[in-house]
Order: sequence, then structure tokens, then C-alpha cells
Amino acid sequence: MMVVGLHRSSRLVIDAEAIRYNVRTEIERLDQQSELFAVIKANGYGHGITKVAQFTKEAGATGFCVAILDEALELREAGFEEPILVLGITEVKWAKLAADHDISLTVGDLEWLKTASQLIGDKQQLKVHLALDTGMGRIGFQSEEAFQEAASYLENTAKFNFEGVFTHFATADEKDKKYFDLQVNRFHSFMKRLVKRPKYVHVSNTATSLWHAACNGNMIRFGVGIYGMNPSGRALNPPYDLKPAMSLESEISFSKLLKKGRSVSYGATYTASEDQYIGTIPIGYADGYERRLQGFHVLIDGQFCEIVGRVCMDQLMVRMPKLYPVGTKVILAGRSGNQAISMTDIAEYAGTINYEITCGFTERLPRTYNHEYIEK
Ligand SMILES: *Cc1c(COP(=O)(O)O)cnc(C)c1O
Repeated sequence: MMVVGLHRSSRLVIDAEAIRYNVRTEIERLDQQSELFAVIKANGYGHGITKVAQFTKEAGATGFCVAILDEALELREAGFEEPILVLGITEVKWAKLAADHDISLTVGDLEWLKTASQLIGDKQQLKVHLALDTGMGRIGFQSEEAFQEAASYLENTAKFNFEGVFTHFATADEKDKKYFDLQVNRFHSFMKRLVKRPKYVHVSNTATSLWHAACNGNMIRFGVGIYGMNPSGRALNPPYDLKPAMSLESEISFSKLLKKGRSVSYGATYTASEDQYIGTIPIGYADGYERRLQGFHVLIDGQFCEIVGRVCMDQLMVRMPKLYPVGTKVILAGRSGNQAISMTDIAEYAGTINYEITCGFTERLPRTYNHEYIEK
């Protein structure tokens, strides 16, 4: 485990109420009989898995989705008794462990089920969701015949509870609907093979539920929206304003006047064209604040300050409009005065998506909740 920086001012501040608001607002848009499962894989997209589990549950989420079995076990360990679905493929050797903890697994082939049936105890039942590959090309059944065979195997085998069937869309966050519609059609044709529908039929990630709600089925896998981020970046507008849940804050650790002609950081890539005020901030790429962000900006006192010179592993430098003293608050993501920096802003500059930014913040950054951090 990476050492957590508790004696350093850099920290992620997570707004529980923003998370609850996003989940509540999404649930209000759903049909009465539909459920929202909170997708909290990868440490809740960097926000803290058990905290996000708690906040989303308070807001009405009735289940959780994770990517790997360990994340599901972590939730059970923390005392959550809601349904938990592992979205990725779990090695079949862990089928019994999943059944022991009442964790639902995703299955994409009949062989897996046959092997699992040998491992699960006689009085046990493993809950499974069959994944359909309608065009994501990642996991799941590609042929309707193979799917039908697996479904009837499940119906006739007491060791399994056929709890769900689902697919995942590759382009739900795009304006062009052609590929999306192709996947919907394939899904419908898969579903015609079922004699009996399982408890959960689900197809929607955040983007699908925001922009194609008619497809939703009776459960949605709501992920990035929990955290107040737009899955499309800026391509599409959500039907309501998502509230960003995560801010990244720090303080100036060193402050100085840099004389004209002096340079900053590795490679001396930045040279002051005049006398300038430079602030150092104790955060760097080892915290997940990427090196590619040289030339981007932070907020100090409601003003954008450019990151000058290379971002180091643990520190970076910014040009300030005046000599702000050590201890001055710095916002790397979030709001300051009338200005804001979103995870999408950071992602666009870094050439990636907002998801990768929040997932990329490392353990060295403490996560604090609802401004419980004591301000100086
Ligand atoms: C991660 C994931 C989701 C959640 O996606 P968001 O875009 O964050 O809403 C839903 N379904 C599957 C299968 C996933 O892997």
C-alpha cells in the first residue's frame, strides 16, 4: 500500500451531498419498478468505495456493481448486504467464494457454468448474470444459440440462480445513434430466445440512461453520473445538471519572486520572460496529477494560474499574479471564486476522458468527505 500523505496539504475532497443528489435525481427519472445499481468499481472511480456505497445507498441505490470479485468482497466485509454484481469475468475457481458471500457473477459461456457447478456446494446457489455481446466485443455470448443453451442449462440446474441478463453499449455517449441502434436490435433478438426473463434485465450505463432511457430495462448500472461527471465529455448535454463530487485541493508550499531569465523545473523548459511570482504546490504525477498537464492551470484566489515547467513526481510550479504566501489555498479541480476547473477540463487538456482522471489519483492523496478536513 502506498503511504498516505496526511502531513501534506494536498487532498481530494468528496462531496457526499453531490453524490446523493446525482443518484436521487437519476432515480426520479426511472420507471417505478426500475432499480439503480451504483457502479463503484475502481474504488468508486477514485472516490472511495465504501463511502460511495454508503452515500448512494442513502440516496436510493438498491444494489452495487463492481469490476472484480475483491471489490465485492470489500463491500461485504464492510457490512453491505445489498445485491452486488461483478461486471467482469471472474475466474471460475472463485465460484464458490462468490456463492459463499452471495455475490452475483457475470458469465459469458456455458463451459464456465459447467465447471462452476462442480465447485459450488450442494446446498448453495450462485447468482449469475449472462452477458450478451451485442457489439462491445469485450465479453459475453455472441451467438443466440449458445446463449439459449446456457439459459436453459441455468433453468435446469439447481446450483444457479439465473438472476440477470445484460449487455453493454459501445457508443451510448455519442450523437450518432447508428451503432447504438444496431446493438439494441441485436439485444432484442437475443431476448426472444428466453422462455422466462430473469429478475434483472439491464443494458444501461450512465450514458444510456441519460440519453436513451427508453431502453433501460428494469435496472440501470449508473456509474460516472454518480460522481457528477458527463460520460460524453462535452458532446451531449445531460437532461439535468450533474453535480461534480470531487475536488482536488492543495496549498502553496513555497513562494518566491523569480527573476527574468531564470528557469523552472526539469529540462529548464520554462524561462521567465520578466520578473514573475512563482508558487510551488506539493503534488505531482505520483499523485496522479499527470506530467502532461504542464501548461494547464490551477486556481488561486479565483484566478487561473498557469503550470510552468515540467510537472515533477511530487511538486509542480505555477505563475501567480502576485506573491501569495505559503499556505494559500490552491484548487486543482473544483471551484474558487467565480471560476472552476472540472475533471473534464483536466481530461481534455491531457487528451483523455474524465473517468481516467479521477481513477488515476493515487492513494497518496487522502480522501476527505464533506469538507471534514480542518481548514487552517
Ligand atoms: C463501468 C461499467 C458501467 C458504468 O459505466 P458508466 O459509464 O460509468 O456509467 C456499466 N456497465 C458496465 C458493464 C461497466 O463495465
